Amino acid sequence: MKKAVLSIDVEDWYHLDYFNRNECDTNNSLLDGLDVYIELLESLSIPSSFFVLGEIADSRINFFKDLVKSGHDVGSHGWSHIRPMTLGIDEFRIELNRCRDIMKKINGERSFGYRAPCFSLDRERLDIVRDSGFAYDSSRIEFGNHPLYGSIDMHGYEKHSEAVYRNDDFLEFELTTLSVLRKNIPISGGGYLRIFPWFLMKKLVSQYLKTNNIYVLYIHPFELSKLEIPPMPPSTSTLTKFRYTYGRDKVKEKIIRLIKLLDDNGYTFTTFSEIQKDISRASHG
Ligand SMILES: [Zn+2]
Repeated sequence: MKKAVLSIDVEDWYHLDYFNRNECDTNNSLLDGLDVYIELLESLSIPSSFFVLGEIADSRINFFKDLVKSGHDVGSHGWSHIRPMTLGIDEFRIELNRCRDIMKKINGERSFGYRAPCFSLDRERLDIVRDSGFAYDSSRIEFGNHPLYGSIDMHGYEKHSEAVYRNDDFLEFELTTLSVLRKNIPISGGGYLRIFPWFLMKKLVSQYLKTNNIYVLYIHPFELSKLEIPPMPPSTSTLTKFRYTYGRDKVKEKIIRLIKLLDDNGYTFTTFSEIQKDISRASHG
């Protein structure tokens, strides 16, 4: 069965690694984009996997509990968006335990997953995610050119399908990329969905959908916010300014078109934890 997972990394604009947070006015928030996203999902009756920063989850426990009750996944995106690869192993474990505890408060007995800020994870840290009580991870992306993204050695994992790796009941979901002329182009959303014109995105995604059976989208609240991007710190580069402002006005419309494209190609919408449960059930009879 062909499956699509729409996911969102719930963080504010100032959590992005490209900004010096001390120079950002954190009173300005673009988290209204989360409401835009939820409204869109509700209007189309589509479930989604949310990866939430601990410092946001901590102040809105009941809000995220309600999302779980509505059939969505609520997992962790770290505590305050510090890249795991910049933390020592013990520091990472301590932060992860703090994240897990808040996820337990939100999810109760249900399983939940993890996505590293900036996909910054290696195998040693992935093993810690698994051992800390998370049921799945979605931090792997095969895109060697990006300076902030890590790469994960999947030795010992069985490739369950093109983008899913399995180690007993623990799963790793890879972000969707398309190999074109031996280069991997991320077609899973984020900035690429905003920056690529729709005709190009449609062409790339259609090509991917023909030969695969799982598609993963990821997006951020600031991309869907109806508010102006707050003033960026003076040290922000022109490239970063472009990256964060370009194409926001079209992103909701592009997601709707993408959902239709997936639907037209026979994809059904689900969450990572549903896939994880299905695979686990099938293997245990
Ligand atoms: Zn993030």
